[in-house]
Amino acid sequence: MRIPVHAVGIAATTSASTTISTAAAANDCSSAFGILADLLIPGRGDPVSKAALVVKDSAIDWVGREDDIPADYSSLHFSRVHVLMPGMWDVHTHFMGSNIVGSLQDSFTQFLPGMPALIGAVTVDDLRATLMAGFTSVRELGGYAGDVYPAVEAGAIVGPHVYSSMSVLSITGGHGDQHDVPLATVLDACSRGTPFALCDGVEGCTRAVRQVIRRGAKVIKICSTGGVLSLNDEPEDSQFSPAELVAIVEEAARSGRVVAAHAIGKNGIMAALDAGVKSIEHGMYLDEEVAAKMKEKDAILVPTRHIVEGLAAGAEDLAPVTRVKMERMLQLSRDSLKLAVKLGVRIALGTDTFSSDRKHRIAHGKNAKELQYAVDAGMSPLRAIEMATAVPPETLGRQARKAGQLKRGYDADMIAISKNPLGDIEILTKPDNVTHVWKGGVLYKTP
Ligand SMILES: [Zn+2]
Repeated sequence: MRIPVHAVGIAATTSASTTISTAAAANDCSSAFGILADLLIPGRGDPVSKAALVVKDSAIDWVGREDDIPADYSSLHFSRVHVLMPGMWDVHTHFMGSNIVGSLQDSFTQFLPGMPALIGAVTVDDLRATLMAGFTSVRELGGYAGDVYPAVEAGAIVGPHVYSSMSVLSITGGHGDQHDVPLATVLDACSRGTPFALCDGVEGCTRAVRQVIRRGAKVIKICSTGGVLSLNDEPEDSQFSPAELVAIVEEAARSGRVVAAHAIGKNGIMAALDAGVKSIEHGMYLDEEVAAKMKEKDAILVPTRHIVEGLAAGAEDLAPVTRVKMERMLQLSRDSLKLAVKLGVRIALGTDTFSSDRKHRIAHGKNAKELQYAVDAGMSPLRAIEMATAVPPETLGRQARKAGQLKRGYDADMIAISKNPLGDIEILTKPDNVTHVWKGGVLYKTP
């Protein structure tokens, strides 16, 4: 048997690892292999000591205790790792080339000729860094990874599975608009496909949903409130009328898509939930009433604590108007996640990671910091891992692959860790501790 090592990036420079044998075994299927794990964390449910797992044809064929490996697999070669768990997911990312191609609040740069190609080129390494940090799937809620993803699927570049919304849908003048750029310029760019799209009225909103699906959106992203980084609105503002929100959710549902709502202020959160959105992104004004409504509607919170802490720590880089808003959001964001954990709201890992500068606090590849914030807010490490693995596919409705858990029939998207993260969740935040990454049974990273 041979475990395929994808010949790109780190894996390409690594010879056969000490823990993963590539020696051929007699008469077994070339696409099957086994792993023994000192500890297996399944994503949902209790961890298993001295566990084993078999991969066949890119999916998990068997999982159990090492002592119970069926005789059918006696010819397979099993290699050993310390901790095995599902590949992680980040359900709120943006691949925009930021801090390499202009800064986050430098609106005009993105309208210059050639920018999509330049951002796409920068995104190639961001996707690689994300995968090597142990993230085998991302949801992108506005950005260029959706445009780049066909090259990942074709095997030309290395990256996680990408489920992109392509654009963010926003009202004119809303959080997804570029307030300091002439409207005609923005609308012209929107007509050619950008990470944002403006739509107004029931008819306009319905058409915008159809247009992003036409471009390949697997999820619909809207802004039901104002935001922190947009210049001329407030996070407490409600955006889109109830009728517009319903039109978006219903049009998305006709094509089997769910809706993710950037929603900070309470009124905009409640309106989005009433319309039937699947996930509340940020959710800073979450209180008891919001939590109860989220449970009633079977909605998922994506707290994005990472960007809030990251931007607050570098507040001196922000425009004055943004800094004031950020200061207001910081404690709200801490309190809302604590309350959501306490009240048992379903939570998925999402960071709002956007920076392509590796040294930046919110650079691609640092996504696992969100687990640390969740544990700080009262979540157990085991639940934090569920937040990063088993819950995220639920933010995509039926568009998600069967992944995020180590269970028979699920995609063999898995990572091995050199230390036990159940004792210290911070272990997952250091990509060096992620010794192996498999996506669809293909090995992309070895020690
Ligand atoms: Zn975002």
